[in-house]
Amino acid sequence: MKTYHGLGVSPGIAIGRVCRWQRAPKSLPSYRLRPEDVEAEVARFEKALSRTEEEVARLQDEISKKIGPEYGEIFSVHRVFLQDKILREKTVEIIRRERINAESALETVLKKLGELFQRGPDDFFKDRRRDLLDIVERIITNLEPTGTRPSLPGKNQVIVAADLSPSQTASIDRRQVVGLAMEIGSPTSHAAIMARALELPAVVGIGHILNDLKDRETIIVDGETGEVIIQPEKEVLAAYREKRGRLKQWQKRLKTIVGLPSETADGHRVALLANIEFPEEAATVKKYGGEGIGLYRTEYLYLNRKDLPSEEEQYQAYRKVAELMEEKSVIIRTLDLGGDKFPESFGFGKERNPFLGWRAIRICLAREEIFIDQIKAILRASVHGHLKIMVPMVTTVEEVEQVHRILEKSRQQLRKEGKEFAEKIPLGILVEVPAAAILCEKLGPLVDFFSIGTNDLIQYTLAADRGNERVSHLYQPCHPAIISLIERVIQAGHHHRLKVSLCGEMAASPELACLLIGLGIDQLSMAPGAIPRVKEVIRRVTWERLQRIREQLSEFSTHAQIYDFLKKSLSDVLAES
Ligand code: PEP
Ligand code: MG
Repeated sequence: MKTYHGLGVSPGIAIGRVCRWQRAPKSLPSYRLRPEDVEAEVARFEKALSRTEEEVARLQDEISKKIGPEYGEIFSVHRVFLQDKILREKTVEIIRRERINAESALETVLKKLGELFQRGPDDFFKDRRRDLLDIVERIITNLEPTGTRPSLPGKNQVIVAADLSPSQTASIDRRQVVGLAMEIGSPTSHAAIMARALELPAVVGIGHILNDLKDRETIIVDGETGEVIIQPEKEVLAAYREKRGRLKQWQKRLKTIVGLPSETADGHRVALLANIEFPEEAATVKKYGGEGIGLYRTEYLYLNRKDLPSEEEQYQAYRKVAELMEEKSVIIRTLDLGGDKFPESFGFGKERNPFLGWRAIRICLAREEIFIDQIKAILRASVHGHLKIMVPMVTTVEEVEQVHRILEKSRQQLRKEGKEFAEKIPLGILVEVPAAAILCEKLGPLVDFFSIGTNDLIQYTLAADRGNERVSHLYQPCHPAIISLIERVIQAGHHHRLKVSLCGEMAASPELACLLIGLGIDQLSMAPGAIPRVKEVIRRVTWERLQRIREQLSEFSTHAQIYDFLKKSLSDVLAES
């Protein structure tokens, strides 16, 4: 038995047989042409191009129908490459000038273009390079149209590859393939996105593995933990089979709950929303019955690159989420950089205490031009759906006043530029600094909603770094001080007729969700996959019962007491789920 660790990018357990997909190191034909054959070779290339165009259009259509238009969109990049002048004209030029066959000419062009993308700063460019490789491979296959693509024999295959191109992933037969394991890749690579869409458990970024494996060996892929196990021992295999069985049962039950309203048994409604990081996750949110997006973290647009994303690039991303979510609302959190996220483009100096330093709204107010680009992109995208703006790490009233000023300035710029945008957009704050929670009576009149960010509120209130193992015992969501602050924010919000939501990790825990509902929270936002279980528990309790729990909270003075009390009081509903 051998265990490898990668990044789980599509949840679920796959148990099957290894099927290695290696790019065949095709030795491409290479030969010189007689002058009288040159034009025939150009024609052969042109024909392969149009065959490839038809093929990609068909694939795009199939995928759009099979799993949704947003996935079909992946092939738009391929179509752009096919129409690209450099690829087309340069290849023809080389065939004519050097009098060589189309395969060799394409190889030369690919090398040049590939180098350009290789020099690009981030995952985006690397993904585009893979797209380019994918498309050139297709053209080459179409130069010899008699060649057929190999089909896989047998069932329960787990595909192990260096990486899969979008068209390879798209041509996977769900009846034969149960999982994917890839040497490279990231959560945003096409293969990862497609794996999620196809609901195939997948792990990427495992490192060199292909050479250690043989076809048909037994393999386990855990898309949650990122573990990949080859030739598992008997007990390990049995444990994973059981885990897979439990997950399947749960999936079945999940289907029955997704369409049901999120309300207590006596009819008290609580909206369950989702936290996302990538636009494509909107599809998952809908699948799990999320009523909207309560936290769209936008930092990924700024990380792993040397430059800043333009207003246009951001507009496209926000528009995509808005359109995918249709009539449902999407709360876009403005940049929350600093702390543990330092993009190169900001030229951060080292800070002694980054979580108490130049972070989130503090950076945005200091670098107004960057903030304005983001606000303009959100205002423009909100024409296409129901967007709201949420500002992180607010500490003072002046910060919110400044955000209003910048919002107005952004509107003025858009008017001048003649760009379409929504005049009105709800503005809220993430209450995650104790000062904001204490000051929320004063902050209420300045905003349209509050969202409590308990991940940070707990760390700042209890002075316990959320990522430091040594103080993790102090990271206590049920600490009476935390509960008191949450109550305070809910009361102040309701006093100002604002909806109050909570988007920290504690929202995903069924017992803590019950506690929060008892305290009067209006909305809970969590990882999409956590929604069904929380909903199931909410539907089993009554509001009245949660009020009784709330009334007894004052008898306790520690996190442990409150947490035990909650667990005991709700043991019947928690055990059933
Ligand atoms: C929070 O602080 O609770 C929160 C939701 O934001 P993040 O985890 O991104 O800091
Ligand atoms: Mg936070």
